[in-house]
Amino acid sequence: MAKRILKEYQRKRNFEVTPEPDGDKSPSAPKTGLLLYVIHKHQATHLHYDLRLEWRGVLLSWAVPKGPSLDPSVKRLAAQVEDHPLDYGTFEGVIPEGEYGGGTVMLWDYGTWTPEIPDVDSALKEGELKFTLHGKKLRGSWVLVRTRLGYGRSSGKPQWLLIKHRDRFASARDVASEMPRSVSSARLLADIARDEHGDVARAAKGDPAGSRAR
Ligand code: MN
Repeated sequence: MAKRILKEYQRKRNFEVTPEPDGDKSPSAPKTGLLLYVIHKHQATHLHYDLRLEWRGVLLSWAVPKGPSLDPSVKRLAAQVEDHPLDYGTFEGVIPEGEYGGGTVMLWDYGTWTPEIPDVDSALKEGELKFTLHGKKLRGSWVLVRTRLGYGRSSGKPQWLLIKHRDRFASARDVASEMPRSVSSARLLADIARDEHGDVARAAKGDPAGSRAR
């Protein structure tokens, strides 16, 4: 199957204004055979976490409003959004107000992922993708399951649930609030907004109460 295309990603953004990658160049990362895994923490209109899994030359992407949970009894809604370019895997910064996704973006976790099923394309089609994460914060076995409703009535986006499988990485700990900093720069959202000329007060709303920006 051919590389997935990024038309929707590019149509939604003005690359004269946003610092996000335009997805036009071939990925600069060396071909290792490993598949990239990333979670962005994104304080836009609403705070959410964007789970991204490399597949066929792009990052498949899901917006998870409440973020991942390490508790296998917790199902987190994950709305599938447009595929993102591989370059997005290193992006951290501020998307200008008024632009698509305007707000502060933090690289919250990264690493690699491994499919737990033989055929990822058919798993995506069938709506049940089992995978292992090898991140700095998230590890072990997970599943994305498309809900029976399938497509959100208002958004038109495919709705999935993100669920932790039971393994030694499962836990009752609240990983999102216990580990609120960037995996690449150790910054909080407020730090990133301050460094990149964003809205610091709005970004800080996504940081845990009591956390100390620099
Ligand atoms: Mn987002």
